[in-house]
Amino acid sequence: MTDFKGQTVVVSGASRGIGKAISLAFLEQGATVIGVYAGNHAAAERFLEECGMFKGRLQLQQCDISDATQVSTLFQKIEVEFDTIDVLINNAGVRQDKLLALMDDKSWQKVIDINLTGTFNMCRSAVLLMMKQKYGRIVNITSPVATIGFTGQTNYGASKAGQIGLTRSLCKETARKKITVNCVSPGFIDTELIDDLSPEQVKEYKKIVPMRRFGKVNEIADAVLFLASKKASYITGTVLDVNGGL
Ligand code: NAP
Repeated sequence: MTDFKGQTVVVSGASRGIGKAISLAFLEQGATVIGVYAGNHAAAERFLEECGMFKGRLQLQQCDISDATQVSTLFQKIEVEFDTIDVLINNAGVRQDKLLALMDDKSWQKVIDINLTGTFNMCRSAVLLMMKQKYGRIVNITSPVATIGFTGQTNYGASKAGQIGLTRSLCKETARKKITVNCVSPGFIDTELIDDLSPEQVKEYKKIVPMRRFGKVNEIADAVLFLASKKASYITGTVLDVNGGL
């Protein structure tokens, strides 16, 4: 695996699930990680406890990424303390599934605000810092729902497709400054996000995955770290599927 010693990495949704695995992987490779979470302090404290020897290089910050003011305040603090950042991982995301005909405005807006506008808010602040040092890596965590769709996920699918569109346009704006922007698209991954699936649904969904199993969080982290590394210097505007062949 690649070396991130001396690099500063911001990971949204860092306190649980995929974001926690990504953060741990960066810490193991020597990075300093600023992990963002929404408000589950117990999970954040648990993560701090779990990271043991890496504790000194992990900061957890509460910040609602859908709120532009909170994001810009967070990045002002980061600039004062670290000057710049090398890597941004836009991982925080939520689901509120409902058939479109029954979906209220709140469920639509919340998912778009966090998953898509949150990605925009974080990218805008990060790119301003990365431009100054003429280097950066951004990885946005999207979903196969963006391209294949899923019943009950029009809000989630639209937000995840929006992340891909944002990625493909932003990479063109930042290419000359050596800032790459890519997506990783995980398939079904065992986290709290899909805790609500019944055992029958889990069995059914595993049948449609050619590898016949859900993915593990570290399998996503490995793909993210590659795209965030210096080795991925000529890869930008792409979507890397990590989904067992879906
Ligand atoms: P998860 O276990 O539910 O964790 C979500 C994380 O996002 C938590 O740390 C949460 O913080 C944070 N978060 C939520 N809203 C936020 C906000 N407004 N501002 C800042 N942080 C916020 O989710 P996951 O399964 O790891 O999913 C991570 C990403 O992968 C998401 O973008 C998801 O769409 C994508 N994905 C997941 C799967 C899957 O099967 N799990 C498949 C495809 C794509 P708190 O703990 O404070 O709430």
